[in-house]
Order: sequence, then structure tokens, then C-alpha cells
Amino acid sequence: MATGILAVQGAFIEHEHILNRLGADTIQLRQKSDLYKDFDRLILPGGESTVQGKLLKDLGMFDILKEKIESGMPVLATCAGLILLAENISNDTRTYFQTLPITVKRNAYGRQLGSFHYNGDIKGLGTFPMEFIRAPYIEAAGDNVEILAYVHNKAVAARYKKQLGFSFHPELCSDNRIHKMFLEL
Ligand code: GLN
Repeated sequence: MATGILAVQGAFIEHEHILNRLGADTIQLRQKSDLYKDFDRLILPGGESTVQGKLLKDLGMFDILKEKIESGMPVLATCAGLILLAENISNDTRTYFQTLPITVKRNAYGRQLGSFHYNGDIKGLGTFPMEFIRAPYIEAAGDNVEILAYVHNKAVAARYKKQLGFSFHPELCSDNRIHKMFLEL
């Protein structure tokens, strides 16, 4: 079956290209009717979480997707997607799906370090090229959340049940190991 990629805003096409290169089918989720198509995995891409969150609600997609995630659909979330999954956002009063028991800080690296590249270590994968773009980091995590990577002593990747979340953008590099890991969930 296919992977549904949220395509209301942000860097969704890059995820589609990687999955297609890996031989996996994809569907762009642009409107409510797309949510009734056949897909059994979900990608929440980077972009602007506030815009994505608002569009999801305005388009009537929010509750349906939240229910799919809560019932165990495997999710890969990057950057803004990670913010959408987080239970708490320390520097914003808004919250979205709240299915991943972590607290994130939005735009956590400030202006100077707004965007940067880092070769960091991911548990189970080894060194990975990480692109950070106005990224969040994870400030706190619940007991059953596995932190998969730290950069500058801050948690930047987490796994909880079938939810995989990254502060950085694995879709913007030529390394497809994170997408493979997601397809194997
Ligand atoms: N700064 C964005 C937000 O707060 C996330 C940036 C990204 O996805 N690259 O939603």
C-alpha cells in the first residue's frame, strides 16, 4: 500500500522523490477527500507548523489524521512535522496532534544558527548528514520515548511507538536510510 504525504504546505515533494526512488508508492494528501484513499503510512513534512496546523483544521483534515496516528499508523515527521506531533510546545501556546509525548522548542537555534549542517550520530544508523532549517529541538520526553540523536547536547530525533520524528530534514540529503527505516516500521 501507499504512503500518504501531507501536501498542504512545505517540503513534501522531496519526501515523495525519495520514497519513489526506494520503490514505494505515494499519495499527496491535499484535501479531505484524499484521506479516504488507500494509504497505510504517513509523512508530515517540514515547512511552517502554524500554517500547516491551520490548513489542516480549515480543510477538515485534522481530526481524521489525528485518529489515524492514534490508532497506530506509522508516521515519519520532519521539522514542522515534529512540531505537529508534539504534546507540548514550550514557546508557543498552540498545539496540534499531541500524539508524541515530547516538549519541543520552535526555532530553537535562534537567528545566528538558524540553518546549519551537522554530521551527527543516529542510534542504529550511524553518522548521518543533518540539515537544520529554523529547526525545533526536543526539550523533554516521556518515559517511553526513545531519543535517537543528540546534537550540541540537545535531542533532535525521537521514536515513540510507530512515530518517528526528526528536527532536521532527511529528505534534503541523498542519504535515504531514514526513509528506509520508516518503511520498515
Ligand atoms: N520553523 C518552522 C516551524 O516552526 C519549522 C521549520 C522547518 O520545518 N524547516 O514550524
